[in-house]
Amino acid sequence: MSTKKTAVVGAGLVGGLWAIYLAKRGYQVRVFDRRPDIRKMKVVQGKSINLALSERGWKGLIGAGIEEDIRKVSIPMKGRLMHAVDGSLTFQQYGRDDQAIYSVSRGLLNQTLLHCADRYENLELVFDHRCTDLDVQTNTISFHHEKTGNEVTETFDQIYGTDGAFSAVRTRLSRLDRYDYSQTYLDHGYKELEIPANPDGTHQLRNDCLHIWPRGEYMMIALPNVDGSFTCTLFIAFEGKNSLANLKTPEAVNAFFKTNFPDAYELMPELTQDFFANPDASLVMIKCNPWHYQDRICLLGDAAHAIVPFYGQGMNAGFEDCTALDELITKHNEDFKQIFPEYSRIRKPAGDAILELALRNYIEMRDKTADKEFLLQKKIESWFSEKHPEKWIPLYTQVSFSHIPYADALRNGDRQQQIMNQVMAMENIEAQWNSDAVEKKILSLL
Ligand SMILES: Cc1cc2nc3c(=O)[nH]c(=O)nc-3n(C[C@H](O)[C@H](O)[C@H](O)COP(=O)(O)OP(=O)(O)OC[C@H]3O[C@@H](n4cnc5c(N)ncnc54)[C@H](O)[C@@H]3O)c2cc1C
Repeated sequence: MSTKKTAVVGAGLVGGLWAIYLAKRGYQVRVFDRRPDIRKMKVVQGKSINLALSERGWKGLIGAGIEEDIRKVSIPMKGRLMHAVDGSLTFQQYGRDDQAIYSVSRGLLNQTLLHCADRYENLELVFDHRCTDLDVQTNTISFHHEKTGNEVTETFDQIYGTDGAFSAVRTRLSRLDRYDYSQTYLDHGYKELEIPANPDGTHQLRNDCLHIWPRGEYMMIALPNVDGSFTCTLFIAFEGKNSLANLKTPEAVNAFFKTNFPDAYELMPELTQDFFANPDASLVMIKCNPWHYQDRICLLGDAAHAIVPFYGQGMNAGFEDCTALDELITKHNEDFKQIFPEYSRIRKPAGDAILELALRNYIEMRDKTADKEFLLQKKIESWFSEKHPEKWIPLYTQVSFSHIPYADALRNGDRQQQIMNQVMAMENIEAQWNSDAVEKKILSLL
């Protein structure tokens, strides 16, 4: 067993997973979180954010040997089901018949990760410890004990910052010379809502898909929970005509939902209570560079790359950080002078690319999924890809069902879009979408 003393600051999703990777390698791991132990809290699923877990996330869990623990609390979603205002439904499959992304409650996932982490004798979970500062010369962390009010310090060989978008570890790094850092808020925010289970615990809507109510400038989505409820999220501008600023009374909220989401409205008996109990939440994007300091401090997850949630990839990207870093530790035989710089060099473009993809996907989800031409394009792409899987992998598949680097996926997707612009301009494309002519056209453009 290694005597290397490591700190993981942040026992959230990425910290929980990364701590397991370190413990498996035999390091002495102490994991700190400012919050109390989430395992002692009751998770009310419909009232907690749920996340879409996809291929990159699963790879991270498999590498830690805990995928079966997570499978038990996740629900497969094979595609998107779009709800029009008139109640009509359109289903769009995400990938092949055997492919799905998985809905999992953030609270349950975090609890499960910590239960799995706690199996290691060389790993200790320390709660109510808020990191307040970091001495980068001595690798000493200062903590404020949230319950006693005491200030404590502890020194480590290595420190991993997994303390989320507002990372205290990154904040300290950002004060270093030539450290790049930017933070931007989206004009749109979100509100968590709930569709409760039927009295017998079954789901009120189809539970094998992600539901979307695309409405152009805004949208609502709903993901199933294992207890029969759905967590709904309304994404909408903070200001303007259709905005959170205009939804300040129960009358306004009821009218807005009745008009724009009539089928969902019928299933949300506690709509106004939930609406006013839950905060108007904002969406922040964070970029920084590099993601490490010397061979001693390293950032993973949202601490390094907070992105908007519209590709369902923030956590997946964070879990991919874990697999990438673990692979580099093996590759360089624990020589962190090589590992950390290479990690920053590989992962920074990945973080930037998935942020760009996620921003674009917001427009796709809230606007284009209601558009017939867009749906036809996706149908053509999936038909062509089935015929020529080696020549065409749809962008969604590259991001959600593959390990193709995000930056490559972004580039490939742009090239595919250029080709599809020409295909969609073909005469009478609606009638001849799966014809030889279309196949030949795509082949000629590739
Ligand atoms: C609405 C929404 C929907 C999303 N949907 C998806 C999705 O479908 N799929 C997906 O992959 N991603 C999704 N994401 C993104 C995902 O939630 C994040 O990428 C993920 O939570 C990042 O994990 P993390 O461990 O890096 O950070 P966090 O989950 O934020 O965990 C950080 C931890 O650090 C602790 N901490 C913070 N500061 C300190 C401190 N100073 N000292 C000690 N501890 C501290 C916190 O208490 C917390 O436990 C979504 C995000 C949002 C907002």
